Amino acid sequence: MTRLLSHHVAGQPLVDEAARRGEIFDPASGRVVRHVPLADAATVDRVVGVARDAFDSWRDSTLAQRTRVLFAFREQLAGHLDELAALIVGEHGKVHADAVGEVQRGMEVVEFACGIPHLTKGDFSENVSTGVDSYSIRQPLGVVVGITPFNFPAMVPMWMFPVAIACGNTFVLKPSEKDPSVSVRIAELWHEAGLPDGVFNVVHGDREAVDALLVHPDVAAVSFVGSTPIARHVFTTATEHGKRVQALGGAKNHMVVLPDADVDLAADAAVSAAYGSAGERCMAISAVVAVGDVGDRLVPAIAERMAGLTVGPGTDPTSEMGPLVTREHRDRVAGYVVTGADEGAEVVVDGRDLVVDGAEEGFWLGPCLLDRVTPDMAVYRDEIFGPVLSVVRADSHDEAIALVNANPYGNGTAVFTGSGAAARRYQHEIEVGMVGINVPIPVPMAYYSFGGWKDSLFGDTHVHGPEGVHFYTRGKVVTARWPDQEPAAPTTLYFPTSD
Ligand code: NAD
Repeated sequence: MTRLLSHHVAGQPLVDEAARRGEIFDPASGRVVRHVPLADAATVDRVVGVARDAFDSWRDSTLAQRTRVLFAFREQLAGHLDELAALIVGEHGKVHADAVGEVQRGMEVVEFACGIPHLTKGDFSENVSTGVDSYSIRQPLGVVVGITPFNFPAMVPMWMFPVAIACGNTFVLKPSEKDPSVSVRIAELWHEAGLPDGVFNVVHGDREAVDALLVHPDVAAVSFVGSTPIARHVFTTATEHGKRVQALGGAKNHMVVLPDADVDLAADAAVSAAYGSAGERCMAISAVVAVGDVGDRLVPAIAERMAGLTVGPGTDPTSEMGPLVTREHRDRVAGYVVTGADEGAEVVVDGRDLVVDGAEEGFWLGPCLLDRVTPDMAVYRDEIFGPVLSVVRADSHDEAIALVNANPYGNGTAVFTGSGAAARRYQHEIEVGMVGINVPIPVPMAYYSFGGWKDSLFGDTHVHGPEGVHFYTRGKVVTARWPDQEPAAPTTLYFPTSD
C-alpha cells in the first residue's frame, strides 16, 4: 500500500480518503510511489472558504509583519534546499542539481517579494486643488489561485505565491497531480516561518478541481501555467466568471544561429537548452534555425556533444539528463522521431534504444536530433516537450525572423551571432516575449517579469517582478480635503476643477 498524500489547509494536513485518486510515479524506476487525492467541488469549496476567512486579518497585517514572514520563509527554503530537490527528483525525474537550481530560482522570487514595502508604495500629489491632495494606493484582491504544471513543481508556484501573499492576498495552490509532494512540504515551511493559518493552502486535483476553482464566487484571480489548450480554457472560463486571469501556455522556442556565430558556443548552448531537464522546460530550445551554411558546421558539433551526455536517474550525481515524467509522455515524445522520419526529416541521433542498467522500467528516452526539418512537419508544428531537437535550414536572417514570427507560440527565443547590429535587429523585430542574445534560455530574473506573447500567454500581465505586483493588487486613488484647514467650498453643481 502506498501512502495517500494530504491536501494542506489552514496550516494542517487535510486527509481526503473519499476522493478519487491519482498515481504518482518515480519516473526513474517506473514504480508508483504514492497516491494523490483528486478533490471534488465540495472540497475545493471548503479550501476556498478557509482562504477567504483568513483574508480579512492578513490584508490588515502590517508591511513589516509580512516582510518578516517572507524573510523567515526564505530561510526555511534555504535550510531545506536538498530535501525539496530530492522530492522533485523523486516525482519529476530531473537530476538533483537541476532541481536545486529550480528551488533557487523560486527563492529569488521570495527575495524579490521581501521588498514589498517598497514595491507597493503609491504616489502622492499635494494641492491638486486648493487644500486638496490626491494619492494612490494598491490593495490586495482577496483569494487568489495558482494552477501549475508538472515541469517545475517548485519554481512555477513560487513565481506566484510569494508576490501574491506579500501583497496581502490569501492563496490556494492546485499543483500538478503528477508531482505534488514538494508543494505540501512548502506549505509546511510557510507554517514554520510563521505564516498565519489559511493564508497558503494546497488542494490537489485534476480537471474537476480546476473547474471548481475557475467558477468559484470567492476566487478573485487565477494564475495558470501549463499547456496552451488548457491555458485558453482557464482564461475563457475564469474571465467569464469575472476573475482577473494570467494564463501562461505552451512554447516552441527557436534558436536562430547566424553564419557569423561562434559555432562551439552555439552547439554547447543548443545541447544544454534542448536536453536539460529532458527538454521538459517551457524555455527549452526545440528548434534550431541554422542560417546560410552554418548548419553544415553546427549539426555535427551538436551531435558530437550529444554522444558525451550521460542519461540516468536524477539521484545519480553523474547523470546529466533524467527520464521523462510518465510512460505515456515518453511514448508520445519518442513517436515524434518516427513521425519526423516519415515526413522526410533526417534522423541524425536516435535516442529510442537507450537502456539504463538497473532501471529498465524507467521512462527513458535518449536525446534525439532531427535535421532538415521543414515548417510543415508535425515535429516542427507541435510542442513535443521532450529531448527531441529539430534543425530547420534557412537562407537568410529575413527568412529566419519570418519563420519565428509565423509560429503561433511566442514564449522564448535566442539569436546567436557575432554582430551587434544583427542581434539588435532580431530583438526589435521578433514577436516573442523573452529574447536571448547569445544566451539560449533567457529566463528573466525575479525583479523582471516572465511571460510570452501570442499563444504562450492569455491575459495582459506576465508573472512575478513588477507585473506580478500589479496583477495581485488593485489601484485606488484618494482625493482628500480637511475642512478644518481650509474654508469649505460653497455648494455648487459644477464639475470640480483644479483651480
Ligand atoms: P497541463 O496543461 O497538462 O497541466 C497544467 C495544469 O492544468 C495542471 O495543474 C493540471 O492538473 C491542469 N489540467 C490539466 N488538464 C486540465 C483540464 N482538461 N482542465 C482543467 N485543468 C487541467 O500541462 P503540464 O503537462 O503539466 O505541463 C507542461 C506544459 O506546461 C507545456 O505545454 C509547457 O510548455 C507548459 N509550461 C509553460 C510555461 C510558461 O511559462 N509559459 C512554464 C512551464 C510549463
